[in-house]
Amino acid sequence: MLPVIALVGRPNVGKSTLFNYLTRSREALVADMPGLTRDRQYGRVKHGIRPCLVVDTGGIADDAEGIESFSRKQVQVALEEADVVLFMVDAREGLSASDKAIAETLRKMAKPIILVTNKIDGLDAAIAASDFYSLALGEPSQIAASHGRGVPELLERVNQLLPPASALVDDEGERKGVGIAVVGRPNVGKSTLVNRLLGEERVIVFDQPGTTRDSIYIPFERNGKQFTLIDTAGMRRRSKIAETIEKFSVIKSLQAIEKAHVVIYLIDASEGVTDQDAHLLGLVIEAGRALIIGLNKWDGLDHAQKETVKRQLEVKLSFMEFAEKHPISALHGSGVGKLFDVVNTLYESAMINMSTPVLTRILKEATDAHQPPMVNNRRIKLKYAHQGGRNPPVVIVHGVQTDALPISYKRYLTNYYREQLKLSGTPIRLEFKSPA
Ligand code: GDP
Ligand code: GDP
Repeated sequence: MLPVIALVGRPNVGKSTLFNYLTRSREALVADMPGLTRDRQYGRVKHGIRPCLVVDTGGIADDAEGIESFSRKQVQVALEEADVVLFMVDAREGLSASDKAIAETLRKMAKPIILVTNKIDGLDAAIAASDFYSLALGEPSQIAASHGRGVPELLERVNQLLPPASALVDDEGERKGVGIAVVGRPNVGKSTLVNRLLGEERVIVFDQPGTTRDSIYIPFERNGKQFTLIDTAGMRRRSKIAETIEKFSVIKSLQAIEKAHVVIYLIDASEGVTDQDAHLLGLVIEAGRALIIGLNKWDGLDHAQKETVKRQLEVKLSFMEFAEKHPISALHGSGVGKLFDVVNTLYESAMINMSTPVLTRILKEATDAHQPPMVNNRRIKLKYAHQGGRNPPVVIVHGVQTDALPISYKRYLTNYYREQLKLSGTPIRLEFKSPA
């Protein structure tokens, strides 16, 4: 499991500035996916520390009015699941009553907390900090999030407080065969689908009450092939308490996505594509997983509703044209059997082996058909390519002046590779390297 860092603090202290700094490589991805709405709350730390999830809890105000109940619940869930809490305060404004109130709340949670005094740029650090010792949370980490100052030292402290990596690599061996995660908003039909996929008689029910980090791997076989279902929130329990908004956890979903080869994202077709769907799907794409969009509850829809959902998919989710879309009924089983074939196909794509000669040949064809543009009177050259990873497939393209490649050309190449390699349902990532 990825460790989780939660950012907490009253509004305006700089949480989203720090969040953006920690997750900044997302910008490029977002620019490259027109229509992708950036999730401003959940992300991965991409540098300076081992891979982690970071959650911006969005501000615990005195008056919680502004925060709708869903996000408020998610703040609680995020705090419960956090390994380290970064409590941010504003060094320019000094200690406020809300800071004290938040400190009280956090103290009750018995989590590792780091007090972070932000906006120390242009201030005398020692004086800026002195105000906050009365919170009795120890030595503050002094940073200027907008410049990244002090952030490496902060991450070093975070690292010390995280559970040792060895304690987290509990379960790698348990994921056998094709890893499948079923993800979606509450009540879209995840548990119903999971029980169908597993087949009633094969479900082994483990009840491990009280543990937030319970074992989430459910290995099973089908037609002689090995799969592992990655559970999010007790979906497999037959007598589960209905998954309410309270129980739903974006972080658990992200953890499952991380461990999966193929994600089945369920949309409740009777409700259509919601903004929250677009957010969660954005996170699936960020993780680079092969994706099936299951349009569930198809059974109850009339013709007009079906057309509406299809249109919504085209408009709202245009950034995911690569994903496979399947109408299903988890309740009645229609379309579910076929899901296994699709999962297998997507797994093959996500785990594809691509040889250097093949990748280089495709690169040559693509550049012959459509040359990269000139920059400073010199043509950008793309010379050869090799594989840089799987799940998702990564192609590393070597050339000259690749930093100047426009996004439109990168997109062209990406699509060219996807077509030539006949990839289904998986994103493919291109990285460009020039000699320094
Ligand atoms: P949030 O409400 O806690 O997410 O706060 P934001 O990240 O939106 O920041 C609130 C304001 O503080 C913005 O105008 C930021 O530009 C500013 N800010 C954030 N970090 C710093 C910093 O390190 N130094 C200075 N001077 N301003 C900062
Ligand atoms: P979860 O919260 O995503 O795990 O959703 P559940 O599996 O608990 O399902 C929520 C509700 O939707 C239950 O009442 C299910 O019976 C119902 N449901 C699930 N799948 C379907 C379906 O394909 N068609 C219809 N009509 N109802 C469904």
